[in-house]
Amino acid sequence: MSFPDTFLDHLEGLPGFLSPAFQEAHRSVPPTSIRLNTFKSALLSFEHTPIPWSRNGYYLSQRPSFTFDPLFHAGAYYVQEASSQLLEPILSACTDLTQPLRVLDLCAAPGGKSTHLLSLLSENSLLVSNEVIRSRAGILQDNLDKWGCANMVVTQEDPSVLGKLKGFFDMIVVDAPCSGSGLFRKDPDAMLHWSPAAVDHCAGRQQRILKDIWPALKAGGSLIYSTCSYARQEDEDLVQWILSTFEAGLQLSDFPSAWGITRTELGYRCWPHLMKGEGFFVSAIQKKSSETPLTTKTRFSMGKLSAEQRKVLADWWQQEDGEWLEGKEGCRAFPSMLLPELSILSKVCPSVHIGTRVGSWSHSDFIPDHALALSRFRHPSLPQLELDREESIRYLQRGTLERSGLEKGWLLATYQGQALGWIKSLGTRLNNYYPTHLRILKQSKG
Ligand code: SAM
Repeated sequence: MSFPDTFLDHLEGLPGFLSPAFQEAHRSVPPTSIRLNTFKSALLSFEHTPIPWSRNGYYLSQRPSFTFDPLFHAGAYYVQEASSQLLEPILSACTDLTQPLRVLDLCAAPGGKSTHLLSLLSENSLLVSNEVIRSRAGILQDNLDKWGCANMVVTQEDPSVLGKLKGFFDMIVVDAPCSGSGLFRKDPDAMLHWSPAAVDHCAGRQQRILKDIWPALKAGGSLIYSTCSYARQEDEDLVQWILSTFEAGLQLSDFPSAWGITRTELGYRCWPHLMKGEGFFVSAIQKKSSETPLTTKTRFSMGKLSAEQRKVLADWWQQEDGEWLEGKEGCRAFPSMLLPELSILSKVCPSVHIGTRVGSWSHSDFIPDHALALSRFRHPSLPQLELDREESIRYLQRGTLERSGLEKGWLLATYQGQALGWIKSLGTRLNNYYPTHLRILKQSKG
């Protein structure tokens, strides 16, 4: 691997950087790691060893074909780089995660940090998962659907809009767009776009994002800032800028030295020659100044379901505190105790994708949504059709399935007991309802 001109020079002097060891690490294969979805409790068939800082994180001994693993599509795990999973000990050190919290993941697509947050937060916490780029917001929504939680909303806003939610969030995660040098080993093509000018450009954008979102943090709340860049301008310099611009203090603690994470004066660095993971920087900053929180007297409201519709839905959804919300896109389920939060949120972002899409109505027939199939709140007594591996792949390719003697109606297609999506049995044939945009396009090599 030959690095761009001046790249190695700009790393000189950074805490933890050792040029020969760093270059050597870039000649080795990057580790593959995943994080299990505890809401789904699937059994991993891959050989794996734990990631020390992430309770449900594992290194795999080799990289399988995730595309052809039905459990990947069931949301049984998320493929996530080990260094990124450092979010877990950092968050735990900043706050009591058993409390109800309002958390914003500002730069959220494709959803690594958001799915991790949903696993770490209590059920009475709200996650606002935001992605400014429309196409990426769709991917984010798909990954959150797979994770199966309802205590979340997805937004597609510029940070300056969400910044108007003054003093609203207990925690804001800014996993900022960056120059990406930390991922060069996994994605050598990223080197083509690297230059000192690109680093400066990213640092300017990161500063703008942080300035815009800072008002939305509560007094005493925490901002977790991370990048996958090694550049000091995008990392420590920005943390220093926050500390000198706002009333704020660092929230850093020490990690076991065996983890191999480098603690700097303003955050933590992951170096591939010192630990098992890719390049990453993360820091935690607490807000000291007070912000008069945004409030509202308006109660959040959406369309109401009829008593008949509610009766139908009770056979599909089982959540103690669930509230139905009926809108243009059909019916959604959301925890009722979080409705007051929606009242405030919808003041600044009128278009929020709330909770889980459950389904829609065609006259009096209920059409279940794909997100309902993957939800942890789907009713456990829904009829299922267990598929073997080959059938599951065919289902995920939106191919035809054949079975005889099945009763008419909706069936949950499962693989090893994990839901993949819906099938409708017409008695003589099966209709495949796997979403077209999610289907596997690649052909298996066998
Ligand atoms: N947190 C994600 C995860 O763990 O899967 C990865 C986030 S990625 C490093 C940065 C994200 O910021 C991208 O999805 C990108 O589209 C988004 N982004 C780009 N420009 C932005 C801006 N001006 N404000 C906020 N987000 C932006």
